Amino acid sequence: MEEKDKNYNEACNQSSIYFSDLNFNTSESGENDNNQNNSINDDIDSNEIEDHSILDLLVADGEDDDPISDLHKSEYISMCILTLFYSGKLTQSSLILVIKLLNIITNLNLSTNFNSLSKSLLSNIQETISYEKKWFCSLLNIFYWFNLEEQIKRLFKKKILPTFMLKTNLSSNIEDIYDGNIYKEYRKNLVYNNNQLIEKNYSFILNTDGIELSQKSTISIWPVYLAINELPIQNRYFIDNILIAGILVSDGKPKSIDYFFDSIISSLRHLELGLLVDTEIYRFFTIFGVFDKPARALMLKTVSSNGHYGCLKCRDEGCVVSFKNGYHHIFPYKEILDLRNHSNYLEDLENSKLFGKASKGIKDETFFSELKYYKPIDRPHAFNFCWCC
Ligand SMILES: [Zn+2]
Repeated sequence: MEEKDKNYNEACNQSSIYFSDLNFNTSESGENDNNQNNSINDDIDSNEIEDHSILDLLVADGEDDDPISDLHKSEYISMCILTLFYSGKLTQSSLILVIKLLNIITNLNLSTNFNSLSKSLLSNIQETISYEKKWFCSLLNIFYWFNLEEQIKRLFKKKILPTFMLKTNLSSNIEDIYDGNIYKEYRKNLVYNNNQLIEKNYSFILNTDGIELSQKSTISIWPVYLAINELPIQNRYFIDNILIAGILVSDGKPKSIDYFFDSIISSLRHLELGLLVDTEIYRFFTIFGVFDKPARALMLKTVSSNGHYGCLKCRDEGCVVSFKNGYHHIFPYKEILDLRNHSNYLEDLENSKLFGKASKGIKDETFFSELKYYKPIDRPHAFNFCWCC
């Protein structure tokens, strides 16, 4: 009998899944310890559960055997079920069956479907991100503006900030953002202009892209989010370290996004002036942006990439040729190229304002010009060619 119990216990131990083995991370990259800890609610100390298997958590009863409360236990289990749902690609019906099974064998009384399970997890989270909802135009255009200062303070609270790691890359390889000329120039200007401790300054990379909800719908959403360049690359895009600046819900492609970006740029300018955290002032500068070609033309106020002067790297007009039943805008090969840089961008911008029409592809001033170190169009000096030609 004792031998049978021993075998049973051994079998249980072998089949136990430990929480430390589970991946709570919802991002595709950067799966490390830091990430796992970050993804769990602040109130939960992940060390608490290191020595307990799921089986232990499920079968533990009585206060002596129960190192953590039922509330935390059900949170962990709910999180596991959601992880299983996403990574195992379960259907909602299978999810309901899994929850039913767990409710039969435990006394945790878990929420019975996906919606209630997600809601119950969210209701336990103390920290929330506040947002403001704005409607504009009679069509379905809703803009959610998120408080960036609050989100940054949360990173300080979680000890993700302050951080400062600038790798010294002795080779000429471009391995990270710090190795590029634009970042180096930003750093140089920062020291020159502010004469401040460089550790108190951080930079953002801004990202946005329109996502269509489905092929049958014209509704698209445009999330605008920021990553902090000074965070280690493996953690930089981890979901908890990303700052959400706003989300635009639009019926079709928005004709103008100026109104949407007004509030975002204003928040970013405030962060350039400084944010008081405890007794220190930290400043945040947006210096780069990543967009696809249609979004880039919309944001930088340039002609579209398939128009005359549509190349953002050079000032070549290109030409239109007929091809099959339609036309293509092409850029014939040229030995000598007139490459774009910040100074000729300003020149073209001036001309577009003066004559009220696009000049060499530049239509108008972009809202990014209001930011101190954001150069809408600039070229790294290391390259002297253009892909379009
Ligand atoms: Zn070009």
